[in-house]
Amino acid sequence: MTDIIKLLPDAVANQIAAGEVVQRPASVVKELLENAIDAEATHIRLLIKDGGRTLIQVIDNGKGMSETDARLSIERHATSKISSANDLFAIKSMGFRGEALASIAAIAHMEIKTRAHDQELGTQICVEASQVTSQKPTQTPKGTSVGVKNLFFNVPARRNFLKSRQVEMRHVLEEFNRVAIANPHIKMELHDDNTSRHQLPKGVLKQRIINLLGKNMEQKLVPVTVETALVTIRGFTGKPEFAKKTRGEQYFFVNNRYFKHPYFHHAVDNAYSQLLPEKSFPSYFIFFHIDPTRIDINIHPTKTEVNFADGQGIYAVLRSAVRKALGSHNLTPSLDFDREQSFDPRPSSSGRPIRSPEVKMTPGYNPFQTENTGAQPTATSTVRTVSTDNTLIPKDTEGERQNPYFLQLHGEYIASNIKSGLMLVHQQRAHERVLYEHFLQRLKDADGSSQRLIFPQTVTLSPADSELMEEVAPSLKNMGFQLKKVHPKKWEFEGCPANFNNENLQQMMESVLEDYKAQMMDAGMDRYSNLAKAMARKIAIKAGKTLKQEEMKSLIDSLFVCQMPEYSIDGKAVIQIVKTEELKEKFK
Ligand code: ADP
Ligand code: MG
Repeated sequence: MTDIIKLLPDAVANQIAAGEVVQRPASVVKELLENAIDAEATHIRLLIKDGGRTLIQVIDNGKGMSETDARLSIERHATSKISSANDLFAIKSMGFRGEALASIAAIAHMEIKTRAHDQELGTQICVEASQVTSQKPTQTPKGTSVGVKNLFFNVPARRNFLKSRQVEMRHVLEEFNRVAIANPHIKMELHDDNTSRHQLPKGVLKQRIINLLGKNMEQKLVPVTVETALVTIRGFTGKPEFAKKTRGEQYFFVNNRYFKHPYFHHAVDNAYSQLLPEKSFPSYFIFFHIDPTRIDINIHPTKTEVNFADGQGIYAVLRSAVRKALGSHNLTPSLDFDREQSFDPRPSSSGRPIRSPEVKMTPGYNPFQTENTGAQPTATSTVRTVSTDNTLIPKDTEGERQNPYFLQLHGEYIASNIKSGLMLVHQQRAHERVLYEHFLQRLKDADGSSQRLIFPQTVTLSPADSELMEEVAPSLKNMGFQLKKVHPKKWEFEGCPANFNNENLQQMMESVLEDYKAQMMDAGMDRYSNLAKAMARKIAIKAGKTLKQEEMKSLIDSLFVCQMPEYSIDGKAVIQIVKTEELKEKFK
């Protein structure tokens, strides 16, 4: 038999490789922008025509290329960024495979103009389908300009698969956003069909996000920051009340490289788990800084997936950092509890680090005295007060809050005087929050201290509910209920948590199960928090209930030992602050 195996001509090999690297104009944008960043540019311009189908051009003021390098740059596996396989395990540059320019050149018309900093004259190279059509010296500014025209001109199948101008442009914008967010220190511009879409001056991350995504981002974000031996995490995460109905502004970066990570995404989601209304997605911009030898970015041709050696540890660090950020951000000065944009419009980067609140559950607290809110913090418990700067800070109970006066407004809100102005608390939401955290704690500690009922009570359930009861019974036991199944549809309660108001156990269990079922549909909600929420909703005092001074005090005290006093269990505002300056303003 004659030999039939041949080496593919380079142009064909490049075209095949291009299939992996270049899916659409946005892929070219990503590669060219990353090259400009690797070249240490401080100013990058991106010009797009017709969604990138006609032209994609990136102009940078980076270090440029010599004549020889310019010629080599379009060869496959030609890279200045790594030289041995070992370098693969500690990648610091964005690119490293040396195949982007070669791949793009295989399926488009490309023009490179470049001048190195120490050269007087630059080089211009034109390539069509991997063939160099001209190379000559040229006058050009320092840095590099790469223009890519007529993408897929020689691969009609691919060209036909390109979507409309708008769709391609959306992908281009998304790539631009990722690079722009990752590099706030670089001045960046985007021009689309000769109109300027973005002019981003260099600045810090928060300014970059605002410049890119809109002024209103300013009030929507809280800083996330944590430093551990494993990883340093920095960035911003969205306040729950601004969560979006669509996924979108969710960005992870590792060592300034954008990546996707469903597992870490889950960690963030989990940190929000009791704070978001159904089907809404928080925005986040989170940067991981990690020893490059602890990650593997070489597992995907378009490189948005990254493997972490310490994934599990980082998951835990991330979740707790986001949770902490959400628990400690500034309180709102507005009066309106349901208004969407009711949170503090001041930038939280006032120079002061945001302190994380110290949290301690009140040991003697009993939530089951539903008629009076029951919480009695002991003298030693740490209670947070609201200070002039509007952050929650730990204070001893023997402070100036010793005898505050509380005023109940319309049976719904509790008003009280605080250092920085007037604090208003939504009583029902506050109590739900208090109960929820308390139940959750008990569930986790399995602290089911319980009181025997003199007359056991039987609760009758539908077959489906009875089945559900099987599922939640162990948790109820942890909470202090003593119950057993006495019949396929009947459950006998012999004991309840101490001081629990057990008058209408039947109705209470029905509605807790109902709520539990409804929440179960909400994927991702864990069982404990679901049950704790259902209980809290059922038991909490409702709007309209008149409260005595001690009851209000006790409710407020217990609220401020909660981990997240600012948010209701449905992610709405519990507390509002009207600042003294605002009051003064009103009386001007
Ligand atoms: P990689 O980025 O993986 O090295 P590319 O094909 O993207 O591979 O680029 C090949 C080489 O061309 C780079 O390693 C770099 O030396 C050079 N290069 C590409 N773009 C630029 C640029 N904008 N400025 C300076 N050098 C560049
Ligand atoms: Mg590259």
